[in-house]
Amino acid sequence: MNSQVSSTFANWPGLVVASEVASRSIRVMPQRSMNFPDHLRAHGDQRMPKVDFASLVEMVDEVGLNGRGGAGFPTAKKLASMASYVGKAVVVANGSESEPLAHKDESLLIHQPHLVLEGISIVAGALGAQKAYLMAKTKNQMVVSAVEAALRERRKLRLDKVPVTPRIADAGYTSGVETSIIQQLNGKGPKPAFFPDRPIVAGVSKKPTFISNVETYATIALIARAGASFYRSMGVPGGPYGSQLLTVVSQNGSYLVVEAEVGTPLSEIIGSAQVDVSAASSVLMGGYFGQIVKPESIIDLKLNQPEMKKLGLGVGAGIIGFSNSCPIVEASGIVAYLASQTAGQCGPCFLGLPALAKEVGRLAHGATMPKGVEEIGRLADQIAGRGGCAMPDGAVIIARSILRNFPDEVRLHESGRCSFPKGRANFFGTKYERLRLN
Ligand code: SF4
Repeated sequence: MNSQVSSTFANWPGLVVASEVASRSIRVMPQRSMNFPDHLRAHGDQRMPKVDFASLVEMVDEVGLNGRGGAGFPTAKKLASMASYVGKAVVVANGSESEPLAHKDESLLIHQPHLVLEGISIVAGALGAQKAYLMAKTKNQMVVSAVEAALRERRKLRLDKVPVTPRIADAGYTSGVETSIIQQLNGKGPKPAFFPDRPIVAGVSKKPTFISNVETYATIALIARAGASFYRSMGVPGGPYGSQLLTVVSQNGSYLVVEAEVGTPLSEIIGSAQVDVSAASSVLMGGYFGQIVKPESIIDLKLNQPEMKKLGLGVGAGIIGFSNSCPIVEASGIVAYLASQTAGQCGPCFLGLPALAKEVGRLAHGATMPKGVEEIGRLADQIAGRGGCAMPDGAVIIARSILRNFPDEVRLHESGRCSFPKGRANFFGTKYERLRLN
């Protein structure tokens, strides 16, 4: 039994409505899609809560809600910066989820499309928005069907004052970057863009644009219905509060999406996905923008982002992935994949990343490294923070993490050996068809 989390979670309407409860603080996301009658059964009254702009900012500030797309930016701060644009704004919900290991946004859109759409409607109403968009992931037809069915129901019942326009996001790792989403909505390619102004000032059709992750919108809908004090009664006393979605990916590529109360031990969350941690060589925390670490370094942690941050860790967009392959080989695959995703606009990205991928690949596969392993550190220093977007930093963090967390294995590789059986890496369970390696 976990003493740190509250019993309130059992009564929380939830990002996951499921009969399958993995523990007192974890629910397993079903693939079942909830229609509007299901939505009302789970969440109550047909009338959506009306929240004005000031109350919305106050509400999300009170619960300390951070964006769920990975960067974890405080939602209240982002919303507050829209204050002078109320009445002229565009609202965008980003469900493009380009992290290869992530499945929580697509699962949420399949499971509770109405909750996401209700969150968009609440934010659009508070901002007096003229237009609202929902960007969803490519290829998953179940997402498209669930969202289209929910939009049909909502149109018939005239639920949304601001109609939500669904759009399919382009493929590729950088297509989910906020500026790339804006570019796509502006009819341009999926490359991240350099705007003279931030999207908040000039985004879609050059209008002030509020963009956030779909889980963030769904959470706003839940808080608006249940109340900030309900949300604050879950999680760690004094904060952080609430719950969040996680994708747990096992070594064989199977995954489970769960909603876990903040403060839940990671061992319980991982156990709910039936991952054999004793057989794992390494864990990818936070996805391709996170660190590769030893399983023993995370197993005693709790789902508490500020505490994990002190250790340089985090779950990013809610990702915990396991591997039983060599972590150096795994890292080389990820860095090579990220190098293949450059939009070709910034030197440190399109020149630096292939060079970094080459050196990490040499280390992984026992090739001679004329300049030694120090070259990886030197290239990482040259690339870090110098891209037009943060994508190259992900490759740098991955490369640095194996040097720091697996020094013995790195030394073995320097002498052309490896303590793992030769074989193909599985990129922490990433589905191969989701990778586009050059
Ligand atoms: S860092 Fe890479 S992906 Fe990001 S804007 Fe520059 S070229 Fe594009």
